[in-house]
Amino acid sequence: MMPVGVFGGTFDPIHYGHLRTAFEMLQALRFGEVRFIPCGDPPHRGTTYADAAQRYRMVEAAIREQEGFAVDDRELRRGGPSYTIDTLFTLREEFPERPLGLILGMDAFLGLHSWHRWDELLDVAHIVVAHRPGWKAPDIGPLGDLITECGTHRVDDLHTTLSGRIHIHAVTQLEISSTEIRDLVAAGRDPRFLMPDAVRDEIDKSSCYA
Ligand code: ATP
Repeated sequence: MMPVGVFGGTFDPIHYGHLRTAFEMLQALRFGEVRFIPCGDPPHRGTTYADAAQRYRMVEAAIREQEGFAVDDRELRRGGPSYTIDTLFTLREEFPERPLGLILGMDAFLGLHSWHRWDELLDVAHIVVAHRPGWKAPDIGPLGDLITECGTHRVDDLHTTLSGRIHIHAVTQLEISSTEIRDLVAAGRDPRFLMPDAVRDEIDKSSCYA
């Protein structure tokens, strides 16, 4: 059973940094699919700029033509803060026999110990960390210890067990951030070539970053 990649984020908006990372994970780690799960109520930040429905539509537009990509609205339907651990438990119920691979950028991984019930994440899923420009893997502290204990370089380990391993994977570095895109659009500039045209059209239509 091929692993299910789980890619959560605010996606405010989704861009080629997210998409290329997910695509490289899908291919290199031999995932059966990657599910993009837009965060409903992000516990770590204030309100989002585009609302939940707009962010969902942008993800949907971005992935429409890519086989193996799916958008999943479970965090948008659930009330309360969107905790990843709750999302993973519902996915585990749905896919009792498939490995789950939680995809995180290195910046997100470095903040993991502040996540709700973070010490239970590896009971339910593997964690796959994508290198992001300017961020380094921790070698000390609780996350350094976790990498020592659970880290693996072998992709096969993500297939032969359902959860519990950490794999750090180098991806093409695309220094694109949602924050910069929002600033650019707010300044009246065009975000073309930072994201699929279908996402840019959604931004135009909704004026969500104007
Ligand atoms: P913001 O600028 O609003 O903070 P962000 O793109 O960093 O946006 P999210 O949309 O929440 O934030 O990111 C979702 C996930 O994608 C996170 O795990 C983040 O580390 C990762 N990610 C974001 N941008 C990139 C990129 N350019 N390359 C690789 N991973 C990325």
